Amino acid sequence: MAKRDYYEIFGLDRNASESDIKKAYRKLAIQFHPDKNPGDSAAEEKFKEAAEAYEVLSDAQKRSRYDQFGHAGMGGNAGGGGFGGMNMDDIFSQFGDIFGGGFSGFGGGGSRGQRRTKGTNLRIRVKLNLEEIVNGVTKKIKVFKMVNAEGVQFDSCTTCGGTGQIRKVQNTILGAMQTATTCHTCGGVGKKVKEKPKDADEFGQVRKEELVEIKIPAGVGEGMTLNVSGKGNAGPFGGVPGDLLVQIEEEEHPVLKRDGVNLYYDLYLNFIDATLGASVDVPLVTGKAQIKIDPGTQSGKILRLRGKGVPDVNGYGTGDLLVNLNVWTPQRVSKEEREVLEKLRDSENFIPKPSGKDKSFFQRVKEMFQ
Ligand SMILES: [Zn+2]
Repeated sequence: MAKRDYYEIFGLDRNASESDIKKAYRKLAIQFHPDKNPGDSAAEEKFKEAAEAYEVLSDAQKRSRYDQFGHAGMGGNAGGGGFGGMNMDDIFSQFGDIFGGGFSGFGGGGSRGQRRTKGTNLRIRVKLNLEEIVNGVTKKIKVFKMVNAEGVQFDSCTTCGGTGQIRKVQNTILGAMQTATTCHTCGGVGKKVKEKPKDADEFGQVRKEELVEIKIPAGVGEGMTLNVSGKGNAGPFGGVPGDLLVQIEEEEHPVLKRDGVNLYYDLYLNFIDATLGASVDVPLVTGKAQIKIDPGTQSGKILRLRGKGVPDVNGYGTGDLLVNLNVWTPQRVSKEEREVLEKLRDSENFIPKPSGKDKSFFQRVKEMFQ
């Protein structure tokens, strides 16, 4: 569905003053107010549409961006139906003042009261090495978090009588209506701290060091955030705790390079082993593997060690370890070595004879940039 122009919604032109916009919004908000149109979803849509338009046009910065770029300039903020995420309570808490305190929230506004009782989220970083990433690990980490202090006693809030809401009957433009606003004394909690230890704050909480155990699944990667539900700061007034957000940092491995679920290793062979064949060690994340080098192995051959990579974090199998074989050319030789090599220089078998079966340089470069 095409979005309507914000000015068109208010029936105004682009030169409309701030107060014109406010007046027009107030008119629409009253006309389509949910208290006046119970169960009418078309009215609710109009109400939201007007709130969205007002949110943009009442803010000088947003308005000028909208004037220049239209809906496209609003990005994820209000464009593309982004306002769908703004519920009625948000609209009331944001623009409630425009109703002159004359309206309650949607459904009586009862859901708006309990905000301060959920604990806040706690954010930490955890550095992992490749072995911990491949195997998964349980970390015990010291965090400083807000906890509810011992010996705190509560009383009902005297301003609201413990309900968290101030209700009154008011004469409004629509006639007599019961209104409810969040209690300013207690912020909607309905309680206040009666007795607390000296070091506790106004919510009866103290900051305390705590050892938390965090189970980190195999396959996580740099920059990922794990959400450990309920391990954040305690909720004041007996509310639920916030979450612990664990951001992963990855330590670089000295020789194995990681790309997603696969690992890469550059193996250097001396040309004698490459010529005659050999058994050589390849480092794994844990321990090592012995691999067989066939006689006559060329540089650029890639061996795949299946399942020796990193597990997928969502459980879709495990990646591989890819070993790139490089034949090492000596960069210094002694007099004796030189004599041996000089004898071999013109030997028939040391003259390069590509088989034609190996991938050409052209092919490999093409694959590299695909
Ligand atoms: Zn209160």
